[in-house]
Amino acid sequence: MLKATNMTVNHRGIGMTSQRTRDRLVNRLRDEGIKNTSVLQAVRDVPRHLFVDEALASRAYEDTALPIGHGQTISQPFIVARMTEALLSGGIQIKKVLEVGTGSGYQAAILAQLVEKVFSVERIEPLLQQARERFFKLGVRNIRLKHSDGSWGWPDYAPYDGIIVTAAPEAVPNDLLEQLALGGRLVIPVGASGGVQILKMYTRTNDGYEIEELNAVSFVPMIKGGV
Ligand code: SAH
Repeated sequence: MLKATNMTVNHRGIGMTSQRTRDRLVNRLRDEGIKNTSVLQAVRDVPRHLFVDEALASRAYEDTALPIGHGQTISQPFIVARMTEALLSGGIQIKKVLEVGTGSGYQAAILAQLVEKVFSVERIEPLLQQARERFFKLGVRNIRLKHSDGSWGWPDYAPYDGIIVTAAPEAVPNDLLEQLALGGRLVIPVGASGGVQILKMYTRTNDGYEIEELNAVSFVPMIKGGV
C-alpha cells in the first residue's frame, strides 16, 4: 500500500526506531497469536515512535502502553493488533470504521492502512489537535476527527462496518450498538476502572447482537463530556 510505504521510507534507519526494531515487535505479536498478515504489515509500517513524546521514542517498539499526557495512554501494540484483527475478521467487508478515543492517533493510523475511511472522536481537545498534526505530517488523509463525547458515537456518518472503543465504559453505550451496520462489529473493553475489564465483541445480526468475550484488558475509563 502506497501510504504505508511512504511512512516506512521517511523514517527508516534511525537507531532505536529502525526497521529491525519494528520487525522485532511484529515477530513478537505473531508469536503472541496475531495471525492477520495485513494487521502485522500495518504495525510494521506505522511509525509508533512518532505517536509518543520524543523522550519515550526509544521505547515505542516495546509491547507496552505508554503515557501520552492528560492522564491517558497509547495502547499496548498487542491490544491494538488484537482489536484490529477482531474487527476485521467478520463476514462483511469493513470499509468505514468509528474509533472512540483518538488519544495519540496510533490506533486510528493502523486502521487507516486497512480500511477506506476512519472516523475518530476524542474528548480531550489538545490530544485531538496533536493527532491531527501527526496525520498531516505522515500524509494520512483518510481519518476524520471530532472533538466530542464518543459515548454518543458519531451519528452523522453511521452506520459503521466496525466500531473500536479504546476507553472502558462500565456498560456498553446503546448509541454505539445502534450505529453498527448489519454484520458490523463493535470491539469494546467493558468494566469498572481499576477493576477487571473484559474486551467484548458485538456483531450485529438480523435479530440482535452476538456477543463474544476476547481478553481481560486494562484501559483508561470512558469519561462523559468533553474538555
Ligand atoms: N486509541 C488511543 C488510545 C488512547 S487512550 C491510541 O491509540 O493512542 C483512550 C482515549 O479515550 C483517551 O485519549 C481518552 O481521553 C479518550 N476518551 C475517554 N472517554 C472518552 C469519551 N467519552 N469520548 C471520547 N474519548 C474518550
